[in-house]
Amino acid sequence: MGPPPEAPLAIVTGASRGIGAAIAEVLARNAFRVALVARDGEALSTLEKTLAAAGAQAWPFVCDVSDEAAVAAMLGQVEARLGTPGVLVNNAGLGGPFHRADEVPKEEWDALFGVNVDGLHHLCRWALPRMKARGFGRIINIASLMGLFGGARSSTYAATKHAVVGYSKAVAAEWGAYGITCNAICPGYIDTEMLAKADPQVRTDLLKRIPAGRFGTSGEIAQLVAFLAGPSGGYINGSALVIDGGLSSHV
Ligand code: NDP
Repeated sequence: MGPPPEAPLAIVTGASRGIGAAIAEVLARNAFRVALVARDGEALSTLEKTLAAAGAQAWPFVCDVSDEAAVAAMLGQVEARLGTPGVLVNNAGLGGPFHRADEVPKEEWDALFGVNVDGLHHLCRWALPRMKARGFGRIINIASLMGLFGGARSSTYAATKHAVVGYSKAVAAEWGAYGITCNAICPGYIDTEMLAKADPQVRTDLLKRIPAGRFGTSGEIAQLVAFLAGPSGGYINGSALVIDGGLSSHV
């Protein structure tokens, strides 16, 4: 009997907190080896230790995903140490505070596009040929309900997330014949630090509009990612999967 087969590798960006940390944890507990990517190395090391204590395998890789050269260097390290990934989860993202369209500072526009769109593209363009060579790949991009709809004071964020949805569909069409799927997840309001920064009155008003009567949890997004990454998710490709407690079901 030879050694046990190596667990498949998943790269998760924005794994230092919130939805990304939950995704990394669920994948690691579902027998993936996980490369944890974000800028906050301390938070990544803490998550690595927590997962190791639970018998799961994860490694921290500190990187700003908007920096193309830094991403190339980081992915070189991941590949040398852990091999090529079967799963790539592009979750790293910047949110508010948001400005009215005519008041959006150029720095805000560039920063959001740099992380939410360019960052995702840097990782996909590296992963796609490698996944093609293996004949298998699952790319899961965390977009937003703002990738399908708009809203006051969200022009920059909505523009980046619409880009994520469009990019995911195009990649699905282009690479689906090689055993690769690429989907976008469009969460509604999820109770993370991003949402905690919102005005209390805004939170109360939002809750009134959500039929479920509560915000979603990071764990619920993570379970959807695990489904798409697992054996049952193979025929879902080019989809924008809404998970919003019914928020977008009414006007
Ligand atoms: P958080 O702000 O809690 O976490 C964002 C994550 O992205 C952190 O791990 C952060 O790590 C990482 N990140 C930010 N900038 C960079 C960068 N330049 N390079 C590498 N990593 C970066 O957000 P959430 O967990 O709430 O959101 C995660 C994703 O889900 C985002 O794409 C967001 O747009 C999306 N989303 C969230 C919703 C919500 O209600 N919370 C709703 C819909 C979508 P670090 O700072 O260590 O680099």
